[in-house]
Amino acid sequence: MQAAGNLAIGILGGTFDPIHFGHLRMAQELLQALDLSEVRFIPAATPPLKKQPVTSASDRAAMVLLAIANNAAFSLDERELGRSGTSYTIDTLLSLRKELGTGVSLCLLMGSDAFLGLPNWQRWQELLNYCHIIVAHRANIAPATQAMSAQLRNLWEKSVSTHAEDITKKTAGTILMQPITQLDISATRIREDLNCNISPRYLMPESVIDFIHSHRLYVSAKAATT
Ligand code: ATP
Repeated sequence: MQAAGNLAIGILGGTFDPIHFGHLRMAQELLQALDLSEVRFIPAATPPLKKQPVTSASDRAAMVLLAIANNAAFSLDERELGRSGTSYTIDTLLSLRKELGTGVSLCLLMGSDAFLGLPNWQRWQELLNYCHIIVAHRANIAPATQAMSAQLRNLWEKSVSTHAEDITKKTAGTILMQPITQLDISATRIREDLNCNISPRYLMPESVIDFIHSHRLYVSAKAATT
């Protein structure tokens, strides 16, 4: 890979069903800590490893757009929504590389929970050919190597760094451990709360909450009639 100059782009994939402050704060802290030029939010159409989304792709994309509206460094990238079949990250990276060329650092942002599940991803051992992997973890508690499978530990030992500047020295190939403020927020919990009429206020942007209510999302048929 060639030298990257200053341009490093963050990509944050997820179901975003719905997007919440855990996602947004992670993106913001990594944007600043790594001096990224932008962070692209890439909702999955059909996630390979999770239950199918509760809401439609267009509603999830609309919620992402509302959530990032005031941040010029954040954008919505709908390439997975326009693809048929399962949304594999490797295909997204190949498509981004085709568009952006090889002179840009691509930083795949993820929580440490997602990183530990990496060996279940399609062609996971090839991901580092196309991007860096940035593992956001709780301050002072990096993912324990004992929690990693032998294959993942092997990749981690070969590629890990704690130096943020490494991501601009080459355009792919580094696993960077980056501490962030951990917010214990999950979309699962928000969906459960909404279904029980419990407010998600202060866990996500008000604009997203308004959208959820006006489109009657995450309300079971039974709850909707009571
Ligand atoms: P669900 O509860 O439906 O599984 P989720 O809240 O984990 O959803 P996803 O859309 O699956 O959200 O997550 C996308 C990415 O965001 C993953 O890399 C995940 O590790 C990360 N992430 C999710 N919640 C948080 C959080 N609270 N803090 C930091 N990262 C998060």
